[in-house]
Amino acid sequence: MVFIVSFIFIFQEKIMLYCFGAIHMVVKEHISVEEVADLLKKIIRVRSVGRDETKVAEIIIEVLEREGIETYRLIESAKGRGNLIIDINGKRGEGYNLMIVGHSDVVPVEGKWSVDPWGGVERNGYIYGRGAIDDKGQVAAMVYLAILLHRLNNDFRGKVRLLIAADEEIQDPNHGVRFLVRNHPEIFKDIDGAIGELGGKVVFMGEERQLVIFGEKGALSLRIRIYGDKGHASNVYGVRNAVEGLARSLTRLPKEKFFISKPVKEMFSNLMGLKKIFLTNRLLNKISIALVGRKDLRTARMLHAITHITIAKTVLRAGQAENVYPEYAEAILDIRYFPENYEKQLLDFIRKHIPSNYKYELTTLRNTPSTYSSLLTRLYAAIEKTIHDLGLKPLPLIQTGTSDSAWIRKLGIPVYNFMYTEQPLEVERIHGTDERIRKEELINIVEGYYRLIMNLQRL
Ligand SMILES: [Zn+2]
Repeated sequence: MVFIVSFIFIFQEKIMLYCFGAIHMVVKEHISVEEVADLLKKIIRVRSVGRDETKVAEIIIEVLEREGIETYRLIESAKGRGNLIIDINGKRGEGYNLMIVGHSDVVPVEGKWSVDPWGGVERNGYIYGRGAIDDKGQVAAMVYLAILLHRLNNDFRGKVRLLIAADEEIQDPNHGVRFLVRNHPEIFKDIDGAIGELGGKVVFMGEERQLVIFGEKGALSLRIRIYGDKGHASNVYGVRNAVEGLARSLTRLPKEKFFISKPVKEMFSNLMGLKKIFLTNRLLNKISIALVGRKDLRTARMLHAITHITIAKTVLRAGQAENVYPEYAEAILDIRYFPENYEKQLLDFIRKHIPSNYKYELTTLRNTPSTYSSLLTRLYAAIEKTIHDLGLKPLPLIQTGTSDSAWIRKLGIPVYNFMYTEQPLEVERIHGTDERIRKEELINIVEGYYRLIMNLQRL
């Protein structure tokens, strides 16, 4: 009996190895890492900081047309602010319609780099440049996924739609995915599920895992303006000073509020079973995070962020002249919250901390909703299988930053941020200096997506 069982086990292992190798070879035979890297270098050279996304799209279109792919649309929200949509239709007929979302804009360059951040430089097996990871590396891989499917004669069921969006970093309501959701709902209408930006291998509690982001916190950017008595600074008696009113409001306002959201609770159950009590109980949470923080501040911050509503005070403005009380003083708060927290609730919480004798105004400057997707979907099952096929385990997490996935989840479409990499990405370089990606990862990303599409055929 034992013999038979172990025999089957070995046999299965052989089959798995065979499948692993076969797909790996299919990708390597049809796509070279050099061509993906070449596209990445070219698009890094476009300084698409909140502009010129159309230039990135034009470089991609040239590559697509050379391949004979004409099923694309370029939709601009304003001159130069282009969103590129590429469709690859499977020739085997109807099936799962998968969208993969990336973005062509980047954040500005700051600090001292060892190479030209806009040069698309290759050094020691890495491609350097602003956007190398976030998100032009993924975009280049997405384009070559389309090319791979095309070179393989579109031999699959369903459809793959790539969305290379503008303005992800700024999240202006009039551009990018927000513009498309409002003005071109047809793009999302027939989509069954979507893959959002980034992912990659991570080391979690000493174990290698593949990150799958299934939800994210919301981000509310709020301006708080306190009005006072305008006048000369030689009088203080009976004066409501706007500067003091604001300072008092800000000191009274806590920077955190303990909150365990439903998807976060599910995430903890999934990852640590009963041990989740260490993070979901208010007191134990405080102790556990302090203990973790002594050794590993980054993990402590992450655990804190997913178990608290956070209120960061980021901008302060008041006064012009030294000897005059200003009419008002204002601050901007960056509030990160969960799906259960409504805007009105959050504003009421802020209001409670403003001294009652002051007039004030709260203005929402921007609000990206908090969203999450169920882990019981066909797409998540296919992602899980893909990760297992690659010999790894998934790490489903809620992220504390926002992304375009939120707007697509809002339409009722499940979205997971998943991207296969062989080694952990250097995420600390994202939005920082010397951002870079290992060249070999570009082909791994293509392979991860291709495997996912193949797995969606079977499930
Ligand atoms: Zn990004």
